[in-house]
Amino acid sequence: MPPAQVQILNGRFDKLSADQTVEELMRAIRAGERGILSTVNVAILMMMRSNPRLQRFVDSSRWIVADGQPLVWASHLRQQPLPERVAGIDLIDQLCARAVQEGVGVYFLGAESSTVREAVNVLQDRHRGLDVRGYADGYFGPEQAEARARAVAESGAELLFVAMGVPRQEYFIEEQWDNLGARVVIGVGGSFDVIAGRRKRAPAFIQRAGLEWAYRLIQEPRRLFRRYLITNSQFLGLISWSAIAQVSHPRRVVPRP
Ligand code: UDP
Repeated sequence: MPPAQVQILNGRFDKLSADQTVEELMRAIRAGERGILSTVNVAILMMMRSNPRLQRFVDSSRWIVADGQPLVWASHLRQQPLPERVAGIDLIDQLCARAVQEGVGVYFLGAESSTVREAVNVLQDRHRGLDVRGYADGYFGPEQAEARARAVAESGAELLFVAMGVPRQEYFIEEQWDNLGARVVIGVGGSFDVIAGRRKRAPAFIQRAGLEWAYRLIQEPRRLFRRYLITNSQFLGLISWSAIAQVSHPRRVVPRP
């Protein structure tokens, strides 16, 4: 049965906890089913509004989870609370742990070659026995994309993480879906840089405060200032507007028979 969903602005989110997401993906792999998981944060949700291709990609993903505390808060405002934030980077570790238990082969595609190599080393240290079927960097031209995808299929990996940034990774997954072979495919943005220790992740209390974006902004102010200024204010404006609209025109609740 597909999970229940919550609509937040232009995004639909599955009402799944992180543990439930992991179990659902492992179930799909065991059952021989295929699907894409999209992890959407505020910046991506806003990017989707001006990028119809990205919006369509996310809308047609089999699973969509909310990768950010502000989205979880917004779901409470809509009175359809999401259980918790489900972050792509946490899923990598949780899925690797389960992949060891179930003998599932994994492939890592994206980031610079030394970064992905280091990320794989770190994950193999953390998850002894992890069956890494292969890894490759994410810097290639369109003429190499098919060969990169076929290499994943030939490796026999069932689980694929693609870390090439948004929306680059989504375009790659969409274009190469038929060549990838892997059963479950997840775009994980810049996660390999964090796992490899090249970029720092915000401490847990900053994440819980919904301020992960501010932490990233301090690390890369020049590159990220415009992005966060625009996306955060747009999100805040839209959410406030929809909350006001909801209060002034509450949906009629029809009692279940
Ligand atoms: N990346 C990649 N191929 C590219 C461009 C970027 O694999 O052609 C990787 C990059 O090395 C990093 C990740 O994608 O590991 C996220 O990149 P970036 O920080 O630019 O994305 P953002 O965080 O801005 O979405």
